[in-house]
Amino acid sequence: MDHLQRSLLNCFSLQPLDRTAHLRENPKWLAEKKKQSGSTFYLLNNDSVLINDAYPVSFNYDQLTKAGLNQVEPIYLGIKNELAHYAVNVDEIESLHQSVIEPTSLRDMTDHIDPQTASILAYALVMNRWHLTTKYCRRCGSRYQSAQGGHVLKCSSPDCRHTEFPRINPAVIMRVTCDDKILLARQPTWPKNRYSVLAGFVEPGETLEHAVQREVMEEAGIKVDRVYYHSSQPWPFPNSLMIGYCAETRDMKLDIENDDLETAIWLDADELKAQMDQRNVILSPPISISHRLIEDWFMDKTGRSIKEWQDIKPEHIVHENE
Ligand SMILES: [Zn+2]
Repeated sequence: MDHLQRSLLNCFSLQPLDRTAHLRENPKWLAEKKKQSGSTFYLLNNDSVLINDAYPVSFNYDQLTKAGLNQVEPIYLGIKNELAHYAVNVDEIESLHQSVIEPTSLRDMTDHIDPQTASILAYALVMNRWHLTTKYCRRCGSRYQSAQGGHVLKCSSPDCRHTEFPRINPAVIMRVTCDDKILLARQPTWPKNRYSVLAGFVEPGETLEHAVQREVMEEAGIKVDRVYYHSSQPWPFPNSLMIGYCAETRDMKLDIENDDLETAIWLDADELKAQMDQRNVILSPPISISHRLIEDWFMDKTGRSIKEWQDIKPEHIVHENE
C-alpha cells in the first residue's frame, strides 16, 4: 500500500471536491455558479455544523435567499458532479426560524454520515474558522476583503495590499515502538483510561522528522532512531494537518516528569489485548489517525482488528490533538 492509499483510509481524507483553483479567480464564473440550480450550501455556526435530525443541513440558493443568508458571501469549496459546494456561517441560528436545526460537532456525526460528506465538512470548518478569526490585516490593521471565493484575503488599504492565504497548523503524531512493544500514553484531561500515541505541533526551523524526535524526547524522555512516514490527515479541530509517523527506539526508559503526560506504558499485542479486555486501556476512536497508527501495528502483530476488542465512539476522542 502506498502513502496515498494509506492516507485515503484516514477519516476526512476522501475529499470529493475539485477545488478548481483556476476558476475561483474568475468573479463572473463564481457569481453565476453560486445561483445555479443544485448548488449546495452547508450551514455552519462557528466551529459547529448545523444539523437537522442528526444530519448536516444543506440549502440550495433559493433556500439560502429565503433565509436571508445570501447577503453573506459564501466560501466556495469546489465542484462535485458539476455542482458547486459552499460553506456559509450562520451567526444567529434563531434567524433561520427552524427549531429543528441545531449546532453540533463534526466529531459526533462521523459514524453515521458518509466519508465524503465528512471530508467536505472538515474542509469547510477550517475555511470558516479562518474567515471568522482573520478579519484585520496582520501588517497594518485595516479590514481584509475576501477574494477568489474566500480563498484569499486582501488588505483593503491601498497603501498596504497585503495578501493572506488560509493557514493550517502541521502536527506530527507518531507511533513509537521498541521491538514488539508499542508506547501508549495519556494526558490527565482525557476521559478515564483513554490512551493514544504521542503528538505535537511542528515548530519553526525543524523538519517533520526532527519534530518527531523532539516531541518523543520532550514527552517521554526517549531517543528515537528510525523515523518514517505513515500517512496524513486533515484535522479540523480546529485547523491542523496531522502527519503520521512511525518511530523506533532501543531505549525503553521512560521519563515523563517534564511534560504534560499523566502516564505512559509499553505494551506488546497480548498485553494490549488484556488491557483492552479489562477496559483499562480505551484507545482513540477510528476518526483519528492515532487509531490508524495503532490499528496497523496491531494488525501486523496479530492479524486481527482492534474493533474485535473495542467499539470506540467519537466521544472518547475529546480534546485529543487540540
Ligand atoms: Zn494591510
